[in-house]
Amino acid sequence: MTEEKFDAIVIGAGMAGNAAAYTMASRGLNVLQLERGEYPGSKNVQGAILYANMLETIIPDFRDDAPLERHLVEQRFWVMDDTSHTGMHYRSDDFNEPTPNRYTIIRAQFDKWFSRKVREAGATVLCETTATELVLNANGRVVGVRTDRAGDIIHAEVVVLAEGVNGLLGTRAGFRKVPKPETVALAVKEMHFVPEEVIAERFGLTGDQGCVIEAAGTISRGMAGLGFLYTNKESISLGIGCLVSDLAETLERPYALLDAFKEHPSIRPLLAGSEIKEYAAHLIPEGGFKAIPQLFGSGWVVVGDAAQLNNAVHREGSNLAMTSGRIAGEAIFAIKSQRRPMTRENLSLYKAMLDKSFVLKDLRKYKDMPALIHTNSRNFFMTYPQLLSQAAQNFVRVDGTPKIVKERATSAAFIKARSRWGLLSDAVRLALAWR
Ligand SMILES: Cc1cc2nc3c(=O)[nH]c(=O)nc-3n(C[C@H](O)[C@H](O)[C@H](O)COP(=O)(O)OP(=O)(O)OC[C@H]3O[C@@H](n4cnc5c(N)ncnc54)[C@H](O)[C@@H]3O)c2cc1C
Repeated sequence: MTEEKFDAIVIGAGMAGNAAAYTMASRGLNVLQLERGEYPGSKNVQGAILYANMLETIIPDFRDDAPLERHLVEQRFWVMDDTSHTGMHYRSDDFNEPTPNRYTIIRAQFDKWFSRKVREAGATVLCETTATELVLNANGRVVGVRTDRAGDIIHAEVVVLAEGVNGLLGTRAGFRKVPKPETVALAVKEMHFVPEEVIAERFGLTGDQGCVIEAAGTISRGMAGLGFLYTNKESISLGIGCLVSDLAETLERPYALLDAFKEHPSIRPLLAGSEIKEYAAHLIPEGGFKAIPQLFGSGWVVVGDAAQLNNAVHREGSNLAMTSGRIAGEAIFAIKSQRRPMTRENLSLYKAMLDKSFVLKDLRKYKDMPALIHTNSRNFFMTYPQLLSQAAQNFVRVDGTPKIVKERATSAAFIKARSRWGLLSDAVRLALAWR
């Protein structure tokens, strides 16, 4: 092993690492992939929605054997207060297409499958192996890695850092800073096991159709955070995540938030009779465009969560991870094919290609959103959800109060809570951040 020099070493066998390793190995490059977990996926946490298009670009026939749970036909967005939810539901028969657009998955199974594809493509995959250090030569160029296995340096022309949100190797090497608490969310998740037919009945599903709920409001107690409920074949994934800075400030415990979310009158009936079998906690990079570190250097590139490539507004991460991994792999293959060295200048091709993709276009579009949400979390996650709920109840409750009186009461409640100027300023700032 120590004698051999690889074309590329990929650190991590998550979505980004597998995409990068598969892309390079299937094009004939000599790839080594290191994964610290017992098996790929053993340490990985996701909701999890898989966006098919991005995987299809890498493995066109993935539907033949990938472990997919349900294909999504319905998405619900809920704004919650303590006793109610106001919802927007989108359900479409169009999503029953022959090649569905989104699926739920279970990462422990999915990552194992993806890793098998990586091996079949020709890469060497070493699990239970932690890369402990990037090795740089006298010119500051990354030339290999050290691992926690006995042995010398493993050399490669380029190292792909796909080590996830903590990004310890990149941080230790000085390629990026430790993410600030306001740019990372801590999410906790449980798997509730329920018979398949019960899920179908509760959510109005047939066959392998699935439904997901994304929820915001008082469930995060005024912190910037979101809850989710995703239907799998025979289980329901339930979770909630909040910015680490908000959790540190309020001293709220994530599991207490999850317990309260489970007990919410809108959620409890959906979980009735379930058996909880798995718990997990994981960080999510949510700093957006402004938190993205340097993406390439001499002998290295960084992809996926390690590069903070996560779209918190749309709750997309794995697709950005897969796409950045694929693009990094394609860029490295292109440089190698032209027999050019993996210099910083040549590897800038990765950034140029990423700039043209939806990954950086989307994150650039929402560049001001993380700061807006962070600095106004109490209004967006407490005040407005409560006002919206009161307004909705006022609208639907029939009690003989004249409608004009109800409408005035609703307007007065909004103005009392935020003032006219506050309402206008919130609307304008939100619109500007959304552009
Ligand atoms: C609760 C939750 C729900 C989510 N829901 C969704 C969703 O529904 N849809 C979506 O698209 N995204 C979702 N995401 C985001 C998504 O999970 C991530 O964006 C995605 O997993 C990032 O992939 P990655 O490969 O960059 O990192 P990871 O999947 O975290 O993989 C990193 C890998 O590197 C390994 N590793 C780390 N350090 C080392 C080392 N030094 N040596 C060797 N191996 C190492 C780890 O063990 C791991 O296998 C969710 C995230 C969370 C936490």
